[in-house]
Amino acid sequence: MNLYFNSKKFQLITALSFILALTSCKQTKENEQPMEANNILLSEWTGDYGGTPAFDKMNIKDIKPAIEKGMAEKLSEIDAITSNTEPPTFENTIVPLEKSGKTLDRVFTYYGIWSSNMSSPEFREIESEMAPILSDFNSKISQNLELFKRIKTVYDNSLETPLEEDQQRVVNLIYEGFAMNGAELDDAKKERYAAINKELSTLYTNFSNNVLADEENYVEYLTKEQLGGLPESLVKAAANAAKEKGKEGMYAITNTRSSMDPFLTYSTERALREKVWKNYYSRGDNGDQYDNNANIAKILQLRKERVGLLGFDNYANWRLQNRMAKTPENAMALMNAVWPAAIARVKEEVADMQAVADKNGDKITIEPWDYRYYAEKVRKLKYDLDSDEVKQYLQLDKLTQALFFVADELFNYKFTPVPEGSVSVFQEDVKVWEVTNKTTGEHIGLWYLDPFARQGKRSGAWANTYRSHTTFDGNKTVLGSNNSNFVKPAPGEPVLVSWDDATTFLHEFGHALHFFSSNVKYPTLNGGVRDYTEFQSQVLERWLSTDKVINQFLVHYKTGKPMPAELIAKIKKSATFNQGFSTTEYLASAIMDMKFHMADPTNIDVDAFERETLAALNMPKELVMRHRTPHFGHVFSGEGYATAYYGYMWADVLTADAAEAFAEAPGGFYDKELAAKMVKYLFAPRNSVDPAEAYRNFRGRDAKIEALMRDRGFPIPKK
Ligand SMILES: [Zn+2]
Repeated sequence: MNLYFNSKKFQLITALSFILALTSCKQTKENEQPMEANNILLSEWTGDYGGTPAFDKMNIKDIKPAIEKGMAEKLSEIDAITSNTEPPTFENTIVPLEKSGKTLDRVFTYYGIWSSNMSSPEFREIESEMAPILSDFNSKISQNLELFKRIKTVYDNSLETPLEEDQQRVVNLIYEGFAMNGAELDDAKKERYAAINKELSTLYTNFSNNVLADEENYVEYLTKEQLGGLPESLVKAAANAAKEKGKEGMYAITNTRSSMDPFLTYSTERALREKVWKNYYSRGDNGDQYDNNANIAKILQLRKERVGLLGFDNYANWRLQNRMAKTPENAMALMNAVWPAAIARVKEEVADMQAVADKNGDKITIEPWDYRYYAEKVRKLKYDLDSDEVKQYLQLDKLTQALFFVADELFNYKFTPVPEGSVSVFQEDVKVWEVTNKTTGEHIGLWYLDPFARQGKRSGAWANTYRSHTTFDGNKTVLGSNNSNFVKPAPGEPVLVSWDDATTFLHEFGHALHFFSSNVKYPTLNGGVRDYTEFQSQVLERWLSTDKVINQFLVHYKTGKPMPAELIAKIKKSATFNQGFSTTEYLASAIMDMKFHMADPTNIDVDAFERETLAALNMPKELVMRHRTPHFGHVFSGEGYATAYYGYMWADVLTADAAEAFAEAPGGFYDKELAAKMVKYLFAPRNSVDPAEAYRNFRGRDAKIEALMRDRGFPIPKK
């Protein structure tokens, strides 16, 4: 399972999607004109493929004036809607609202690149400065009473005389978005609501910057004598990383997951494992200027106060009302059903690992920094599976070809590299492909891939769009991107990745296919439902272990021979291996997220709350939450994933259930009929159809939890 979140830009756009405001912008400067003329961030996108961002001309000095101009433009567009004297209709209110903010959307595309792919201290300063200004701007729109009245009139009228199906859904979603975000509050409450959001925006930025600072400030530099157990690829990457940081001849283990995880898996230096583990799991929790505990308490208090203004008991109740799960209780019921099986499995895993340690004469008791190391030994022993051997068959280039193959088989897409220099990129390693319909040749969009880790790039992997598909205002084609943090190899060396990382690579591509396949007319219908949007990505992971992919693309980097059947059998046999660890570390985070937002946060001691909640859950002491609270960016660096981390498992119930449908189909995972149904019902409609209904259209019934339990090798809970 892979738990990576979409980019900040995606979150921002989600936050902005219902935003529509009124007053004129006071920031406009009189001498703005010459500045604007040269400001590339404001310019229309030009060139082939419906125009593309001028990433090669980005200048950080343009950000502030561009955002100011973009906000002013959007506010005046909203003004034009509210000053219309005609009675409100879909055409004169909703359509212009959907059209508004184009310039700002373009600016945010660049902003997202700086924020996630190319960050710097200079940018972070601008980000901190802009966060409260953007929050004010958002409030101006979401609290615009005149605008809301018009939307409400369109909505009320549609209850009498229904609109066309997709228009009706647009109106429903926009109306709910406004109502959920305080449009109906009285003036005093609105003022407080906006002030809270403004304060939160600054706290979110501080939260992320603190985590990033701790990632950059804690790097372990090793000498040649301290490399015991590490595979050659990791040693090379660590040498490269040290060189980049001006310590040539040393080996750098950086404080990111992609560095920490393999180090803990392979290093024979137990004391160093402990150090690297502590660095990683203490991010944001070091009691210094970058400590996040006080930030978190404040965030929880403000969230609770804000939803209180809307009459909600707690943040979780408010947040889940338009999710697939509907209530925190439904989400908790799923997690509680799986938890006992997960921690019971941890017990078995620890016993297996302790036995290995004892047999080796290691004289240790399994600690959290030992889990990955001994799990790898058990894996070899039980399944005779060597992760490093598997890696030799997982080359990034071949995996990329595998993605294209799957997209061809399921979606009838063709990927072609764009001619050199025809599309600008923000960094030389970024590559771009054109996506077309294989049969008709119709242009669908461009796929940007930014594969490698570097200073200033967020850790993890994510997918986002620079432009989404819509047709209501002319046909707009998709600009989608995937972003990873593979360690860049020495020149001439292939990029070999782990099975998990290969799975994640497919996962993010599933998000991209979800973008490309959109058939919606209006922008609002491209929006995601948080506990559903991980389904499309998770389901695509399943194609990695299909025979067609294995035989064609999982080939040895030296011999070119496909992965031997014996090794494949071992991988499949070990599919449920370490599920205790991965399910428990995930669920602990997901349950924590929900409990924090169901609790009373007045005077909350974040550190104690985390400890006590874990104790009450009987959290095994041999592992920690996948994301400890002080660096749980999904939940505290914005609101995109707050009380939403459970969504990965919620979506995984659908995933496991859908995968069983493929396994049972006559053509298996390449069954044309079932694939067409999946694209038609579960990908293309985006949010134009209620997700529960969409799933029933695909499967003929609701998804069942049993498939998920089988998938993870857990016993089926008794009813
Ligand atoms: Zn995802």
